[in-house]
Amino acid sequence: MEQSDLILLQQKVGMLRAEGKYQETIDAGYKLLEIGMKLNDYKSILTAYMNNAASYYSIGAIEEAFENIDAHKELSDKHGDEADRLGTFNILFLLYEYNKEYADAKRTLKTTIELSKKLSHYNITSNAYSNYSHILLEEKDYNKALEMAEQGLQYAEIHEPKSPILKFRVKLNIAKSHILLGNVKESAALVQSMVDDPLLNSFIREKSQSYILQAIWYEEQKMYQEAFDSLTEAKVLAESYNDVHLLKTIQQKRCEMCDLIGDFETGYLVQKEYIELLNEIKDRDLAMSALKLNIKHRVAYIEGKADRDGLTGLYNRNYIQRKTNQWLNAAQETGESIVCIVFDIDSFKSFNDNYGHVYGDEVIKSVSKACSKALRSDDLIGRFGGDEFVVILRDTSLEDGFRVAKKLLKAVRNLTLTIENKSTTITVSMGVANNITSNASDFIGLFHSADNELYKAKENGKNQIGIG
Ligand code: GH3
Ligand code: MG
Repeated sequence: MEQSDLILLQQKVGMLRAEGKYQETIDAGYKLLEIGMKLNDYKSILTAYMNNAASYYSIGAIEEAFENIDAHKELSDKHGDEADRLGTFNILFLLYEYNKEYADAKRTLKTTIELSKKLSHYNITSNAYSNYSHILLEEKDYNKALEMAEQGLQYAEIHEPKSPILKFRVKLNIAKSHILLGNVKESAALVQSMVDDPLLNSFIREKSQSYILQAIWYEEQKMYQEAFDSLTEAKVLAESYNDVHLLKTIQQKRCEMCDLIGDFETGYLVQKEYIELLNEIKDRDLAMSALKLNIKHRVAYIEGKADRDGLTGLYNRNYIQRKTNQWLNAAQETGESIVCIVFDIDSFKSFNDNYGHVYGDEVIKSVSKACSKALRSDDLIGRFGGDEFVVILRDTSLEDGFRVAKKLLKAVRNLTLTIENKSTTITVSMGVANNITSNASDFIGLFHSADNELYKAKENGKNQIGIG
């Protein structure tokens, strides 16, 4: 698949979700995930996790939503940029909301609002205000809820491309705030216009929510039978796209209305439906556990692969750099000595030139194996690129680092490769440095010092160690 096709697929996933086509989003999301994993393309993987998480949440598949949130967070922490972190915050909110951890939810939303404004992702800003308003409604702070929803509407209005459903979603909270503030007339007109909005023909979830809103209005006016009827409309819609979690809210409310009306016969039937629904939710949650495990494994797999060099299986430059920087940071406090050994195969080009590239690859693999074997398990060894390798030793003095370098030099010298009955030997040149002597505080600085020593060793005739 071409890069441009991949970007198109990423956009498609986002668009489908914006249009409320959750099942289709998930289908396209898994396709994107699969291709993203194959190509090791983090942007695609993150886009897929993020949209799947939100879509699953919207259709009430909570476990699946959480799995995707988890996977998104883990990958974004390691490989994401600011926009990806925004994505994480945006969906992390769902987790807090679901668990009713409102303080955390609000904190997350504040970060989302700040970051999305900075990146001009106003659809996310609008959504975050809308969610903030929703929490304030739960906390019965209706004035502030109205204020937040109105801010959300402003951001929905400046978002490009124009998105009527974005505005609609914020308006659900504006209307609910008005209802609960007791602004009867204002909210009546607003609720009616929303229920009648033709936009809802393409957005079933929002249509269902509009009927719930209408029911809340009726309930506030003590018109319980009308409230029950609106809830029944909402129920039919939620059933049509199998949103079991929204159905749970609706059925709970319908039971309450039956009690208030005093219609115990209907109440009994609704109660029965409600219990069946709860059982269905339990079964579904069980089935999700298998999927949960599966996703965990897949993420572990791609992450493991992302840190490794394809030819040798050693760590790659990216990983070594990240890990060493962590160690060096800690060492700044403790004064620990960390050694970096850089080595490069001598006259490696001649292997390629004389016996071909495939043979050259075998030389690289043999050197990598011999050196890995000579090291302790806590030492870090990676392929820096081409025929160059790097070893990082924790809590090791420069003198001890030099001893390890000698051991590696010997391990490579002892290697013999036989081609066409002729034996060849391999040698390497090395440079050794530590953070104390070179005064390096990050990987680049430490590597640079060791690389200087390697350069001197090559200049002095190769097959030797330079030490700084
Ligand atoms: P020196 O002793 O100065 O290091 O000489 P050298 O011939 O080893 O020179 P250098 O390190 O610059 O050459 C590295 C060569 O390795 C150049 C490149 O064509 C080749 N190379 C890089 N990556 C690979 C690889 O994955 N496989 C093979 N077979 N060759 C590679
Ligand atoms: Mg070389």
